[in-house]
This record gives sequence, structure tokens and C-alpha cells, in this order.
Amino acid sequence: MSFKLQREDLVVTRNFIAGVWQGAASGETIPVNNPATGETFAFVPNSNEEDARAAVEAAVEAFDAWRATPAKQRAAILKRWNDLIMACADDLGKIISSEQGKPLAEGIGEIAYAASYVEWFAEEATRANGDIIPQAVRGRKMAAYREPVGVVAAITPWNFPAAMIARKIAPALAAGCTVVCKPASETPITALALVKLAEEAGVPAGVLNIVNTGSSKKVADVWLDDARVRKITFTGSTPVGKHLAHESSRTLKKLALELGGNAPFIVFEDADVDAAVEGLMAAKFRNGGQTCVCPNRVYVQSKIYGRFLEKLTERVAALVVGPASDPASQIGPMINAKAIAKIEEHVNDAVARGARVLTGGKRLFTEQRAESTYYAPTVLADVDLSAKCFHEETFGPVAPVTQFETEEEVIRLANDSPFGLASYFYSNDIRRVHRVTAALECGIVGVNEGAVAAEAAPFGGVKDSGYGREGSVHGLEEYMHIKYVCQGGLD
Ligand code: NAP
Repeated sequence: MSFKLQREDLVVTRNFIAGVWQGAASGETIPVNNPATGETFAFVPNSNEEDARAAVEAAVEAFDAWRATPAKQRAAILKRWNDLIMACADDLGKIISSEQGKPLAEGIGEIAYAASYVEWFAEEATRANGDIIPQAVRGRKMAAYREPVGVVAAITPWNFPAAMIARKIAPALAAGCTVVCKPASETPITALALVKLAEEAGVPAGVLNIVNTGSSKKVADVWLDDARVRKITFTGSTPVGKHLAHESSRTLKKLALELGGNAPFIVFEDADVDAAVEGLMAAKFRNGGQTCVCPNRVYVQSKIYGRFLEKLTERVAALVVGPASDPASQIGPMINAKAIAKIEEHVNDAVARGARVLTGGKRLFTEQRAESTYYAPTVLADVDLSAKCFHEETFGPVAPVTQFETEEEVIRLANDSPFGLASYFYSNDIRRVHRVTAALECGIVGVNEGAVAAEAAPFGGVKDSGYGREGSVHGLEEYMHIKYVCQGGLD
């Protein structure tokens, strides 16, 4: 770890099952690496089916008592969890930066973002009201109760190791569900630290269980097959999401799938160009472009194309690339060798199809480390519509830009994707704002705004970007089902 922590005990390297910190049943471990240096700084359990089953048993065992715990008491525990997370924000941010690579300010920022979900759902826990339905027939009373779905399996990715866990576990616990969780193998230490703080906050044994593994399919298969696991909540790639949807059909689980995106970013000629550049900087380069809502295709109307490119290039060229431990760093390393190979492939493909590299376009610091995973923030101009980077998530600090002529044309281009997570556009024409907002096929629209996520807002996609919503009042509904009760003979 490249940082000194105030609370060294937050670095836990064991599973947490039934309230007991423990190694894998096999005794095996997998390494956790710092992507900035490639150094291994910890080992976590390499769990298998046995550990996965033990976690489900614990969650099943704990469910009845947890669902019967008054909502106000569950809320108080979540509130304490939020307070502990915020009290340890610096240490947790350092852990994120060490295993994920994002600059420290972003790591600490992610902790505040993660905690905001815990606080939000602590409050929502006490408002999971049902409905009294107006009498339809004399002598009957009808009501709809909201009940927790049961045991929830949560599987999360590496790009937001704290936020993705928090926005699944907090609503699940608020609703009265118990949880088995598997974090990404690249970033388990953040997840374990959060679970440790949940234990300190008073989450009872068995209510929250975490299993680490280098064989995610083995663990997930146990949870998919077990009919007592009533819900899978997954954030990650579309192929894995589709696999989980297919396999969970055997036990008809409730599903929430937060999958990949391919966000368009459209700048109309009536937009404030400076604001649009700032919005693109915020949306594209956060976490080095490794976000699911990050713009992957930039369309600029021809009249302002040159001016926009000039301003964007100036801003991108000034970004500071370096390790999370350097306070000046704005862009950290990519997560691993596979990630940087994909970025190189996309840039080379775009250039081969005629794109111009206005800044960046290469790997950095290879003289210090041949396997360096740092990539220079890049602007590509005149990108052909057939280029790979317009069709697949690049997941890196590359902004590919092209020009368009008409609103009709750009809406067709924006919607010409199997994905539908986020879209962004900049315009100062109020009628256009309403037309374009309605026409875009996606779950999230940023209008003259590049930073869209918030705990009070519903986050999620359509089409191949998945279904289900996280955050907001809808985020709690995902973990509850409705029980309709009809009582007769009252006349
Ligand atoms: P990934 O490969 O799908 O991995 C996500 C999680 O699934 C990891 O915990 C992974 O474990 C696990 N996994 C992999 N194969 C599995 C299988 N067969 N069965 C069960 N679990 C399996 O995705 P990623 O590369 O880590 O994450 C990046 C993707 O997440 C991008 O597409 C991004 O857009 C998407 N994302 C979406 C959102 C959203 O809210 N829509 C937010 C963030 C990220 P291992 O770590 O062991 O492989």
C-alpha cells in the first residue's frame, strides 16, 4: 500500500461469514495488486463453492430476525455505518487509490459518494410505506404491504469499489433483506473495510456476508442455483449480466442489472461551448474514463466543431497523469494490462480509419516500467462512424470526436447503439432541450450537465445497459415485493 493509514486495522484480508472473519475453506488466496506499480500488497481468500454455500446459510439464518427488526432500528444501524464511513473517509480513500489507482482526491470523493447512499437509505428505511386501497366491495378491506424479498446476492465491479457496494447493500439492509456479496477480485480491500465498519455499526452476524474469490463463476453459480437467494443485484459488463439473467431463470430470481454503456455527448451549435467543454471534462475524465456513464462518442455540430476541438484539446493536454500518491495527479493508471490493451486497440483502429490525434494517443512512463498502465489523455478528431471506439466501451481517457449537421441526424446516431445508459447534450434552445430529451433512448440524460449521479436520483439503463434502478425512492423498491391482502366478511 502506498499510503500510511490512521486505522491500519481497516485493511482486512479475510471473508466475513456469519459474523466470523475467516479464510477460504480451501486455504487458498489470491493477490491484490497496486495498478500504479504492479506490486502485490495483500492477499485475500480464493473462495470456492463451500464458502459460497456457507454465506447463503448464514444469510438465510439471519433473515427472519433482521426483517423483524423495526425499520427505525435498521435505520439507526445504517446511520451509524454512514457516520463511521465518513469518519474513516481519508483511510478508505487511500485504500481505494491503492487497489484501484484513482487519484486520492477522487478516492476520498468516492467515499463521500458511497456514504451518501448509506445515509439516503437509512432515511428511506423508515418510509417503506404500503397502501390502503379504497374499498371496492362492501365488507372488504384491501391493502398492499411491502416486504423484503429475502436473501440478496450482490456482485460488484472494480471501477467504484465503495460506491457500487454501498448502493446495493444499503437499500438491501434498509428493506430488511440479508446479503451475500462478492466484490471484484481487483478491489476487494475497500469492500472488506466497508464490511468491517458495518460490523462496528452493529449489523448483526449473518446479515451481511462477504466472499472473495478469483473464481467468480464458481461462487456465483452456487448463488444462482440456490432458490433461497431471491435476488441478484449486479453491476458489471453486459455479457456477464446476460449470463446471470439467463442462469437465474432456473429459480426465477428478481434481478437488477447495471451494465455497460456507450454514452453519446452531443454539442449543438446553440450551446455554451465553454460549459460543454467543462461538462465533457467532468464526465469523460473522472476515474481516467473508467466509468459506465462516461461519454464514449462526442458529436459536435459543424458550425462550432473547430472551436470546440481547440478548447477541448487545450484542457485535455493540461491534465496531469501520475500515481494516486501524488496530490497533483488528475489521471491515474488503468486497472490492468487488458484494459490498456483495449484502449490502444481502439485508438489504433480509429487512426487507421482516418482519425487525427490532437493530443495523447500513447502509453506513458514505459521507460520506468515496460508494463506501465498509464495512458495519455487523448483527443481524437474526425473519427469515422465505423470506428470501434464509437461502438464499444473504451473505458479509458480517450475522447473521440466527430461532427454532425442536423438534430435529426445526431439523434439517429446517438440511438444507433445496443446500449442505453447515459446520454448528454448541450443546448440553450428550450424547445430543442425537450425534443432531444424525449428522443434519446437511455436511462439517464445530462442536459447542460456532465456530472449526473446523485443518491436521490434513479440510476440505471435501458436496452443492453440493463434494468433496475439504484438510488432514489426506486432503489428501495428493488429489494421489496408487494403483498396484497384482502380481508372479507367485515360487513
Ligand atoms: P465484469 O467483468 O462483468 O465484472 C463485474 C463483476 O462480475 C466482478 O465482480 C467479476 O468478478 C464478476 N464476474 C465476472 N464473471 C462472472 C461470472 N461468470 N459470474 C458471476 N460473476 C462474474 O465487469 P468489469 O470489467 O469488472 O466492470 C466494468 C463494467 O462494469 C463496464 O462494462 C462498466 O460499464 C460496468 N459498470 C456499470 C455500472 C452501471 O451502474 N451501469 C457501473 C459501473 C460499472 P472478477 O472481478 O473476479 O472478475
